[in-house]
Amino acid sequence: MSSGAPPSARYAVIGNPISHSRSPLIHAAFAAQTGASIEYGTLLAPLDGFAASVERFIAEGGAGLNVTLPFKEQACDWVQQRGGSISARALAAGAVNTLRFDAGEVLGDNTDGAGLVRDLELRHGIALRGMRVVLLGAGGAARGAAQALLARGVAALLIANRTPARARQLVTALADQRASAIEWHGIGAAGAQLLLQATSAAFTGGALELPAGVFAGQPFCYDMTYAPRSTAFLDQARQAGCRRGADGLGMLVEQAAESFLLWRGVRPQTEPVYRSLREQLDGA
Ligand code: NDP
Repeated sequence: MSSGAPPSARYAVIGNPISHSRSPLIHAAFAAQTGASIEYGTLLAPLDGFAASVERFIAEGGAGLNVTLPFKEQACDWVQQRGGSISARALAAGAVNTLRFDAGEVLGDNTDGAGLVRDLELRHGIALRGMRVVLLGAGGAARGAAQALLARGVAALLIANRTPARARQLVTALADQRASAIEWHGIGAAGAQLLLQATSAAFTGGALELPAGVFAGQPFCYDMTYAPRSTAFLDQARQAGCRRGADGLGMLVEQAAESFLLWRGVRPQTEPVYRSLREQLDGA
């Protein structure tokens, strides 16, 4: 346990909506595995009430929060405005998915990118170094992923977003010659070896409209979203002949483990938790 981690403590995941979140299940499994006595719930914040909800949680003695859609970028601003400290990877991402409250001190971190990298490399055997990666989306999850992929040594990172200006903003923020913004209709010609789906289209109900040729060259297709057995994006990839791909359930478990490590000072084993979640999800 880290020096600051109380023996028993309260955590939650904050978002809107939040009832779908599997984070409470994952952290309960980590706690059981490591013998930690923690309580981990969900916190629904009004869309205009992120800061107030977090302040209330702190006042009630909360030790840490995971932050999910749509608050990750807001959380990054909030930590800085409050005079808290922010990790280099969260700052590079401009998005925070993990908050730690320790004796009045606030720390903001981003574990999404590390979770994605661990899932891709360790679970799916993808060697990221030198790869040509196309990233669909420029929201909080994409931001976390982008800086971690660059740090891992990808050769090129091409970012396409429905709203192109947001992709360009992300590229500017990354300040790395290997990162560039491409138009949505240009994805098919981008020569992706790894195609990462990081939009919330499936989640927000809108269809993700992909241009022709997007699966050309049969890249490894990774969907940060997850669903029982497959996702709409992975179905499309398979129909287009892509043999290799994965959904984001492994990333979910890995980013949670990184948060748990930050809070509790111990890295839980992720494989049994991933396997159990996979069975639950696919059996649903
Ligand atoms: P944000 O709200 O921050 O960003 C949403 C992104 O999706 C934006 O780039 C947005 O584009 C794009 N988008 C939304 N709807 C559409 C659509 N119909 N067509 C095309 N693009 C669309 O969300 P997050 O980045 O936090 O989350 C993105 C996804 O990643 C979610 O599904 C989330 O569940 C998943 N995720 C998974 C994790 C995991 O561990 N597996 C961790 C974190 C996130 P625009 O800028 O034009 O609005």
